[in-house]
Amino acid sequence: MSYRTASNTSKSQMTKETDQEQQLLNLCACQGGITAACITRSAIKYGSFESNRGSSLSAFQSFQCKLAKFCHNDMGGEPNTSLVCLAVDGGAEFLFTSNSRKETQLEEIKRGLEELLRFAATNPDELKPKPLQKMILWRFVEFGFRRVDGYFKTLSRTLDECIHECESANESTITKQLCELKSRVEFPREMTDSARNKILNDCETFIKAIEASKNSSLGGEIDRRARQDDHDQAYKWCELRHCLGRLYSYRQAADAIVEATTKWPELFKSFKVGYIPSAKQKKAVSPMSGKLTDVLHYAFPEYDLEEFQPDIAELQKYGLELEIRKQMFERNSKTSIHAEVHMHDYLSRVRKVKASDFWDGTMFIATSKPVCQLCHFYFQNDDNEFSVQPPHMNLYPMWRVPDGASEEVLEDLIDRMQVNTIKLITEKHPYYKRYDSRTDSHGCQTRATHETVFDRSSAPSPLDGRSAHSGVRPGGYHNVPPPPNEVFDDIIPLGSDLEDYGAVGDGRTSAPNGRSMIGVAN
Ligand SMILES: [Zn+2]
Repeated sequence: MSYRTASNTSKSQMTKETDQEQQLLNLCACQGGITAACITRSAIKYGSFESNRGSSLSAFQSFQCKLAKFCHNDMGGEPNTSLVCLAVDGGAEFLFTSNSRKETQLEEIKRGLEELLRFAATNPDELKPKPLQKMILWRFVEFGFRRVDGYFKTLSRTLDECIHECESANESTITKQLCELKSRVEFPREMTDSARNKILNDCETFIKAIEASKNSSLGGEIDRRARQDDHDQAYKWCELRHCLGRLYSYRQAADAIVEATTKWPELFKSFKVGYIPSAKQKKAVSPMSGKLTDVLHYAFPEYDLEEFQPDIAELQKYGLELEIRKQMFERNSKTSIHAEVHMHDYLSRVRKVKASDFWDGTMFIATSKPVCQLCHFYFQNDDNEFSVQPPHMNLYPMWRVPDGASEEVLEDLIDRMQVNTIKLITEKHPYYKRYDSRTDSHGCQTRATHETVFDRSSAPSPLDGRSAHSGVRPGGYHNVPPPPNEVFDDIIPLGSDLEDYGAVGDGRTSAPNGRSMIGVAN
């Protein structure tokens, strides 16, 4: 099976494509609706989580993910940015792409990344390692400042909520610690030339405070409260932990880049940066019906769903049809190709499909965030040789395959979606995840069987799976599914000593009222 069709698209192929697109749309709506019904039914099970410490990406793959993160410099919006490091004559080429970015934005990122790498490589002021790390951190924070500012705003609000809770309960120690943290968040962030150094210095100071909190009782307390069973109570603590983790990840990224210059000096001798224009958005097919029986029929045309009727009837009690209808009709009308899939398609077209085409000899597509469910299934295709990060398993219904992808690719993906959806119908244990990014970059994978998901429109939302038990074959591929009944989140165990501060905890971010499913920009 090939990832691409060899000839021009015929009329019958177009019809087939439209049918497949319609089927995928209905499958996504089913999953979304079922997940929402399961949440209302409070049928979510939480399992214990162990982070994926034993299955790291290689240092070089992790470094590439940090660069992809640098390229992802806006709040929200694009689900991902992808990057590869090609081996080209006499050096390396860092090639990136993003979902739905304009040419001018891509140019800006290209310049930013070139400057960052050149600065790290040449160290023009002959700084010692620590001051160099500091300057790289400043550049990282400055380049992604809109995002950083967003984290600070969320932190400010969340800290207020946490402080209020602790004050009301007369918990003086943690109240004091949180107030101390809050005092460091409140600094002017109007970025001007004259204020620049002060702002970046304040950001750095705050990131140091996060580091200090890791080993303090505060870190443990935040972690404990984020894991409590009462979702409404846990929600703000998860949010707090998430924002702290995302800000701390800038420190990790800066350190990784400085380290890279000494680890791979050859890489920095001669390199260039390029990008692939984002794929154009396309109008999505229109939903044919929001009626439950119709949606199930379009999603599973060849299945006899009779045996699942009791399960479906049970979910109906919790608003399944209404939720499915929301999924079908309250959504974006444009589809896009996610960055990692777009990159894969590009590399296939230009025949960069051998390990030797890549600087470190591994066919890895780095991403600024873990991959979504549909990208995950796309990369599980037997014909795929590339690896990517493990998925967060959130579902973006406005996802599409590249133009010219073979129908077998979509067929394979639909098969996996059907299996996943049936599993969700029968088990009623959705995995979902408020944040679709994570601080670390542990492990990567191509083929694995996974659990469920969902998303309400294009916003990031639920479901993830990642396992400490995942088998990792040479090259970092996971080929064992995550354990069931786990809910993960991109939140940091503050008390942990993980090398990459930000492994996933069993995020209890989901409030029964569903607000966790709206997702936040990250
Ligand atoms: Zn994706």
